[in-house]
Amino acid sequence: MGKRARKEPWPGSCPRCGGRQEYSDPFDAALCPRCDEWREPACPDPQCSFCRNRPLRPSLARELHPDDPALRRAARLAARRSRRSR
Ligand SMILES: [Zn+2]
Ligand SMILES: [Zn+2]
Repeated sequence: MGKRARKEPWPGSCPRCGGRQEYSDPFDAALCPRCDEWREPACPDPQCSFCRNRPLRPSLARELHPDDPALRRAARLAARRSRRSR
């Protein structure tokens, strides 16, 4: 309880786009929804239940966990980007 002295709440802001990073509970990993990138490498353990099923990009993970707000946000932003580039 209450000993957090960090300036920025984890997972902080994205080093690339400066946007707010989010935490995906089902994958136990931080991600940037704007860049659509995980901010933590998958661990090398092939048995790890978090990393084993983790798709390449957070937006692709939404189908696996439709209720996770961080993944939903990544998927929404990715859809917007692909519409614009067409
Ligand atoms: Zn970013
Ligand atoms: Zn893992």
